Amino acid sequence: MFLKKWSFIFVLLTILFVAIFLHFQTAKTEAKVIFLDVGQGNAVLFSDGYTNILYDGGPSKTRLHNKLNKHLPFLNRKIDLLVLSHPDKDHIEGVIEVLKHFPVNFVLLNDNVSDTPVYEELQKVIDEAKNKGVVFIYPKAGQEFSVGNFKIVTLWPDRSMKTVLSNNSSVVLKIYYGKNSVLLSGDLPKEVERYLAYKEGRALESSIVLAGHHGSKTSTSKNWIGFANPEFVVISAGKDNSYGHPHTQTLKTLEKFQVKVLRTDKQGDIKFILTGEEVYLDD
Ligand SMILES: [Zn+2]
Repeated sequence: MFLKKWSFIFVLLTILFVAIFLHFQTAKTEAKVIFLDVGQGNAVLFSDGYTNILYDGGPSKTRLHNKLNKHLPFLNRKIDLLVLSHPDKDHIEGVIEVLKHFPVNFVLLNDNVSDTPVYEELQKVIDEAKNKGVVFIYPKAGQEFSVGNFKIVTLWPDRSMKTVLSNNSSVVLKIYYGKNSVLLSGDLPKEVERYLAYKEGRALESSIVLAGHHGSKTSTSKNWIGFANPEFVVISAGKDNSYGHPHTQTLKTLEKFQVKVLRTDKQGDIKFILTGEEVYLDD
């Protein structure tokens, strides 16, 4: 009787250890990328359970905070790399919240400035973060670096952005997880997209593309989508937004290239699983 009880406990413990082992094995070989529904703006979260990367914060502090509470790993509530594409409200308001309330290691940003109250608030929070030891990096096109199992390739800017229009200054990155890649370009307009398309050519090729400027007709040129040749394009825009994003012209361009289009204004948060080999939608 005594032996039977112990062998039963032994079997239970073995099952438990195998389950824990399998859980961590799976976590190691997959990452997720979530295009957060933050309203009229964008915020994109990458996580493989260990490393968390956030590209922009959207237009609302509370909305972003709630989204991070929901999607960050329960025992790993920090941001390893935070990217500010450019200093417009619909990209930086949430970033202020992240710098105030979450541990952050590195921040990538450009040197474009703005005279809006929200930018002034951001500047204050940046100064405080610098004093706390957060590292701020101004990337230059062509740099490559690793953050955990993710590889970051910077495509833009390639010069100082102090005197250009803020959209033109948008930090453009490709974020790789194994063979999968995601192309992010903030509100970059067509003129710079075309320049980068000619300069980079097939190096733009990506599994997923975030449509520039929330699907506005001022972005998503044919050259950009042609060279990026993605399987999926995500449009991050607010439900019934006053700008009319996404524009029908953008939707037509995407239809021509036969990519799968997903929209945060229609579908809410859009989550993909990256295996390093394949990308699929997590419904
Ligand atoms: Zn924007």
